[in-house]
Amino acid sequence: MNIALIAHDEKKELMVQFCIAYCGVLSRNNLCATGTTGKMVSEATGLSVQKFLSGSQGGSQQIAARIACNEIDMLLFFRDPLNPKPNEANDMDMLRLCDMHNIPVATNIATAEVLIHGLERGDLDWRNILK
Ligand code: PGA
Repeated sequence: MNIALIAHDEKKELMVQFCIAYCGVLSRNNLCATGTTGKMVSEATGLSVQKFLSGSQGGSQQIAARIACNEIDMLLFFRDPLNPKPNEANDMDMLRLCDMHNIPVATNIATAEVLIHGLERGDLDWRNILK
């Protein structure tokens, strides 16, 4: 499965901790991420992560383009709910594209844990059948 990781600055450490905790299952999948998130996750876990541009430089749009082509099977996007972001409209469109293709998406760690457990259990295997 292709898993995309994005974390706003205030949630990056949480994303790192999440990836350390679920390193095993993540290592059996293909990971991609916006630049800084990907760098932090790969440095902390040793996982191989395809890094796109930094979010502010268009990295989330690069991921959104793959979502639009239904090439991403799960999006873990740890958003900062308190501080408005300059590219918020793009972020919202990325979530819209997930809905368009029924791509499982988590915007906080609680949902991300449910998705990762579901992934381990095979609940998302239908994504492979679709392809
Ligand atoms: P980053 O992008 O991982 O490159 O920081 C995420 C974001 O938009 O904050």
